[in-house]
Amino acid sequence: MNRPDARRALVIGGSLGGLFAATALRAIGWHVEIFERSPAVLDSRGGGIVLQADVLQHFRYAEIKPTHALGVRSHDRLYLDQAGTVVHREPMPQTQTSWNTLYNALLAAFPAEHYHRGKTLVDLTEHERRVTAVFDDGSSAEGDLLIGADGAGSTVRSLVLPGIQASYSGYVVWRGLVDEGALADFAKAPLYEDFVLQQDDESLMLEYMVPSVNGSVTPGERRFNWLWYLKASPGPELDAVLTDRHGQRRRHSVPPGALATEQEAGIRERAERHANPAFRELIRQTRDIFVQAILDLDVPRMVFGRVVLTGDAAFVPRPHTAGSTAKAARNAMFLAQALDDSADLDKALLAWEKQQLTEGKRMVDWGVRMGNRIMGIHHPDSAADDAHIR
Ligand SMILES: Cc1cc2nc3c(=O)[nH]c(=O)nc-3n(C[C@H](O)[C@H](O)[C@H](O)COP(=O)(O)OP(=O)(O)OC[C@H]3O[C@@H](n4cnc5c(N)ncnc54)[C@H](O)[C@@H]3O)c2cc1C
Repeated sequence: MNRPDARRALVIGGSLGGLFAATALRAIGWHVEIFERSPAVLDSRGGGIVLQADVLQHFRYAEIKPTHALGVRSHDRLYLDQAGTVVHREPMPQTQTSWNTLYNALLAAFPAEHYHRGKTLVDLTEHERRVTAVFDDGSSAEGDLLIGADGAGSTVRSLVLPGIQASYSGYVVWRGLVDEGALADFAKAPLYEDFVLQQDDESLMLEYMVPSVNGSVTPGERRFNWLWYLKASPGPELDAVLTDRHGQRRRHSVPPGALATEQEAGIRERAERHANPAFRELIRQTRDIFVQAILDLDVPRMVFGRVVLTGDAAFVPRPHTAGSTAKAARNAMFLAQALDDSADLDKALLAWEKQQLTEGKRMVDWGVRMGNRIMGIHHPDSAADDAHIR
């Protein structure tokens, strides 16, 4: 696929955003190298993701043909009260996948010899339409374009847009996964193949089914994925939530297996008091609970000469939009299309930026309004636009 005279892209970050960009650019004949900070294959820490059409469109664009179905269908959306009574039900078919299902499908489509692990970008320079990336081991790489796909805490962004950082929304999401076979029938019944919610004051719990760790969507082998949004005040309360069992204050999340004992006991005890019987059982059966702070981020620019920002490095919308993975896929696909359509790389980048900035900002603003309404956060600037809330 790569021609000897092909343009060369350096992609910083080898998670979904980086892999979307890398596979889309390879589809238009670019030579692509990915540099990922993590020395190991990114593990199965991820949970569920609503499978949006943009992701499927990207897969078609990049000619990625997964070997099996990517997701689990849910049929209805239903709301339970604390007693477990269905207070509202409506048909809303959709498909849910998991982070590791998408990651594995994208990784399999990208040549392993061009995916470099244990490479942390620490600096970059631009000179005569070439970019040089410098890594913490002293090595460097040069290309025509550098794509910052290094997530919400992006080093690339800190170099091109110093001072712009993600801000904390005021709430966190507690999460977990339970194997389908491990859940008692009484709990399985209301949750099975539906998208189930319990909305209370300043709290939203939800559940949907996702593929197994190995990507299986066969009934009996899938997983129940749950999320519970709860407020945590910035300062001592948030610090306690994000301090792991070894006393280390994590930046934005505590992964499975690392939650502090008292935090884990606290959330389990809260579930006993607060959750409906099915959700209560789901949380009881969860081996490793994990937690993530909900962040907001938007940027005024995405293109800096031959350096671009994509995915969470540019915009972090609230998870209620179910849009951050889809947005990363769109960033990548439209970038490849723009570059393919124009012989003038700089012009193509500016046209891409104009379109993607508007979309990103719109999604972040919509997510903030929706999230603040769900969590009962009243902010003078966040007049809820209910007409757009799904
Ligand atoms: C392990 C993992 C699990 C996730 N699970 C979920 C999930 O269950 N549901 C969901 O909706 N979203 C999940 N996400 C986030 C999801 O991937 C993103 O919201 C979205 O897909 C866009 O991602 P991104 O690639 O832009 O950023 P991220 O997914 O945050 O990836 C950024 C990548 O850049 C790497 N990186 C950071 N700094 C540097 C540097 N200086 N040099 C080189 N590499 C660097 C990081 O190690 C990481 O792999 C997960 C992310 C990760 C990494």
